[in-house]
Amino acid sequence: MTVGEKIQKYRKDLGLSQEELGQKLLLSRQTVSLWEKDQTAPTLDNLMRLKEIFGVSIDEILGVDNKTEMAKNKNSLDSICASLAYAMGIDPPKHAAPKNFELTNYIDKVFDGKKADRIVMYNPDAIAQWIYQKYSHFFDDTKEHAEIEIPLATVMPSVTPVCFGTMYTGAQPEVHGIQKYEKPVITIDTLFDALIRAGKKCALITYGKCSLSRIFLERDMDYYHFNEGGITAVNAKAAEVILRDEHDFILIYNGNYDSVMHKMGPESVEALSELRTNCHVFSWISELIKNNWQHHNTLVGFAMDHGCHEIDGGCGSHGLDMAEDINIVHLYKGYPGKED
Ligand SMILES: [Zn+2]
Repeated sequence: MTVGEKIQKYRKDLGLSQEELGQKLLLSRQTVSLWEKDQTAPTLDNLMRLKEIFGVSIDEILGVDNKTEMAKNKNSLDSICASLAYAMGIDPPKHAAPKNFELTNYIDKVFDGKKADRIVMYNPDAIAQWIYQKYSHFFDDTKEHAEIEIPLATVMPSVTPVCFGTMYTGAQPEVHGIQKYEKPVITIDTLFDALIRAGKKCALITYGKCSLSRIFLERDMDYYHFNEGGITAVNAKAAEVILRDEHDFILIYNGNYDSVMHKMGPESVEALSELRTNCHVFSWISELIKNNWQHHNTLVGFAMDHGCHEIDGGCGSHGLDMAEDINIVHLYKGYPGKED
């Protein structure tokens, strides 16, 4: 059954007309009619209200059908943190889940049993696995700068601070403490704390207002937060920091796809143009590293937080426990240093 057919079924089960259901939602009969014809889909707000009215879960409205079509990935995002610690030969943060073996096997292979002395994590926002698959040609250049693809299931709720909290603590949300869209400073042990204990120098390059810039504050590392200039300012600083070659771990956050995806939809021309930018920036950062860090063993990651789905035919969202929001694919490549 499609989402529209389900809405119609639940409505009829309650003996409501389209008009009457519309009234309960302060929406027109036409809106309900468009949903039922699957020409548009309800927004998250309206889904929440439908759930109340119908007395069913959002998953039931959105459909088991979607889920059987698209299964959720098996490996959790929480496995990345310990793998990054392993790459650098340091102890993982205290609450980190076990390592991702695909990634650690790759690290052993690419650095010939040695460790990385540099990690650069490029963190785009909201690039779903289904986008990666459907628009795979956009990633041609990205894939040339990647050697391993790791499908992962992000954590719930699938929103930025919750997911990046898990990426860099290795812990589930109930352990790291961020369980909804909010930006408190994480107090449990993070990868940054583990790196700092090992004498490593970290840099976080983000926008000032984004959650990623807030949740890892209060650590002895370099924060470059830009309130203006968006990804241009962030990426210019990233290039400068890479060329300066003083940091062992560099995190670069680009939230451009996410913000346009919300307004215009995940597959809008505008959002896809931001996606192309993210792919291009990753290649450009990789080239910068390849050409300037020839004496380092560097691991570079293209590592998003969560996926996304389309709502209302014209905008995008995420945060739900559905494969579209949960499934992501990280890309990694190691650049072994040249011995001289
Ligand atoms: Zn978002």
